Amino acid sequence: MKAFNSYKQLNAELKNRKGSLGLVPTMGSLHQGHLSLIEKAIKKNSNVIVSIFVNPTQFNKQKDFHNYPNNLKSDLNQLMDFNNVLVYLPDTNELYPKGIFANEYNFGKLDKTMEGKSRTNHFNGVATIVEKLFNIFKPDLAYFGEKDFQQLIIIKSLVNQIGYKVKIISCPTIRENDGLAMSSRNQLLTKEERKKAILLYASLIEAKRLMNSSSPSEIENSITKKFTNIEGVELQYFKILTDHSLSETKEINDKEKYRAFMACDIGKVRLIDNIALE
Ligand code: AMP
Repeated sequence: MKAFNSYKQLNAELKNRKGSLGLVPTMGSLHQGHLSLIEKAIKKNSNVIVSIFVNPTQFNKQKDFHNYPNNLKSDLNQLMDFNNVLVYLPDTNELYPKGIFANEYNFGKLDKTMEGKSRTNHFNGVATIVEKLFNIFKPDLAYFGEKDFQQLIIIKSLVNQIGYKVKIISCPTIRENDGLAMSSRNQLLTKEERKKAILLYASLIEAKRLMNSSSPSEIENSITKKFTNIEGVELQYFKILTDHSLSETKEINDKEKYRAFMACDIGKVRLIDNIALE
C-alpha cells in the first residue's frame, strides 16, 4: 500500500505501472463492507485506488458532515498489507479548488425519491465527487456497494450521460451477524441504539416474506405501522420500488425485479438499507 495526498503524485506513480485500474471511492472509517469492494477490485485489476475523502457537498446538514467519523489511522492499518493498493487522501482544496459546490445533474426521477428527496442536493454532491475522481484517474472499473443502491443506480446513469468508459461493478451488502448492514455510521450508535438498529434488517426480511401474499402498498403500510411509538426510532421511509428505475408499483409484475428500501433515524443516527425481493 502506498498513500498519496496529491493526485498528480499518484498519477505519476501509476505511469510506471501496467494493467487495468480499479477505483474504490470511500469516505473512510473502513469496515468489512468497504474491504469487500477493495478485495473484489484487487482480484480483477493490476492496480487499485482507494480514495478516502469525506465529501462536503453530499451532506445537507453541516452537523452531519462534522460528526461523520474519521479513523484515518485505523483505515491505513487495514490497507497496509494490500500490495497494489494506492490510497488517495486529498484535502478539500485539492478536489474543490474553486470553492465547495456541487454541479447540477439531471437524473430524471432517480433522485426525486428516498435519499434524494430527504437530503436536498445529496446526489448532486455524490455525482460531483465521483465525476472528479473519474476525470482525475480514468479508471477502467469502479466499485460501488448495493448498500447504497440508489447511489449505485445514479452513478450508472451518470456514466451513461457523460459517456465514460468506466465499468461500474456493483457489490453485495456485507452485514453484521445479526443482519445490520455494515456502515461507518454504526459506530455512532449507543449500545441501546445498536440493539434497536436490527429493526431495519428485520423489516426488510419481513417485506420479503410478505411479498407472496400482499401488495406493495399493504407491505409498506404494515411495516410502517410497526415503527409507530418505538422510542428513539423514527422511520423516514419504507418503499418497494422497481430495482432498475426506482419506480413505485401498485401490483407485482413477474417480469420486473423489486427491492425494499428504508431509511430510519435511530437516535441521531440516520441508517439506510435495502434488500432484493425475489
Ligand atoms: P462510504 O464510505 O459509506 O461512502 O462507502 C463507500 C462505498 O462502500 C460505497 O460504494 C458503499 O456503497 C460501499 N459500502 C458501504 N457499506 C457497505 C456494506 N455494508 N456492504 C457493501 N458495500 C458497502
